[in-house]
Amino acid sequence: MKFTEQLNAVAIDGPAGSGKSTISKLVAEKLGFTYIDTGAMYRALTLKVMEEKIDFSNEEKIINLSKNIDIKLLPARDGINTIKVLLDGKDVSEKIRAADVTRNVKYTAKLKGVRENLVALQRLMAEKLSGVVMEGRDITTVVLPTAKYKIYLDASFEERVKRRLLEFEKKGEILPVEELEKDLEERDNSDFTRDVGPLKKAEGAIVIDTTNLSISDVVTRITDYVKKKL
Ligand code: C5P
Repeated sequence: MKFTEQLNAVAIDGPAGSGKSTISKLVAEKLGFTYIDTGAMYRALTLKVMEEKIDFSNEEKIINLSKNIDIKLLPARDGINTIKVLLDGKDVSEKIRAADVTRNVKYTAKLKGVRENLVALQRLMAEKLSGVVMEGRDITTVVLPTAKYKIYLDASFEERVKRRLLEFEKKGEILPVEELEKDLEERDNSDFTRDVGPLKKAEGAIVIDTTNLSISDVVTRITDYVKKKL
C-alpha cells in the first residue's frame, strides 16, 4: 500500500509507565487487531549489543547491527499474555526486560541510523496487517503518521513510579522507590529530549491522562473512539 493512504492502525505513544503495553494489548484483543510493541525491538537490539560485547560508544557497529537484525514479534491474537520476542530465532521475551537492558536502551534508541532501520521494519510490519495496534514513543509522529487513530497516553510521575513498583512486586522483586524514581527520570529525560524521534504529542492525537482511570476505563475510551471513527 502507498504510505499516503490512511492505515487501519491504532498508534499509541506515551512515557514509560503510562500504561501503554497493558492497554494496547487489551485494545488489540478487543478490536481483533495485532499488537506490536516497538519498545521490545529497541530492547532486543540493546540485548544483542550487550551479548556481542560491543561498546555503546561504537555507533557504527550498533547501526550496522540494527540493519540486519532478526527480530520477530509473535502476534498476540491468541491471548494477551502470549507475546513472544524472538531474536535470531531465540526467545528473549524475559531477557529484554532485565534492569541492565532497560538502563542501556537509551544508548541505542538515540542513534539516527538505528531509528531509521527499526522504523522501516515497523512500517513494513504494520503495512502487512489488516489491523494493528502499535505502541512506542514515535509511532504517532514518525512511524505511522497516517494511522487512522492516534492516542497519547499520559500519567503523573508519582503514579508511574507506583505502577513500576507494583510490577516489580508482582515479580517478587522489591526495589527502593528512589531507584525507580531515578530510573524513570532518566528514561523520561532521554525519551523527551533526544534529537531523533523524541516523545511528543502528535497533531490530531487524543490525549488520555490515565492517572485516575482504571485499565478497563482507558480501554473502553479507546475502543469507543475507534468504533466512532470507523
Ligand atoms: O516501551 P518500553 O519502555 O519497553 O521501551 C523501551 C525503551 O525503548 C524506551 O525507554 C524508549 O527509550 C525506547 N523506545 C523508543 N522508541 C519506541 C519505543 C521504545 O525509543 N518507539
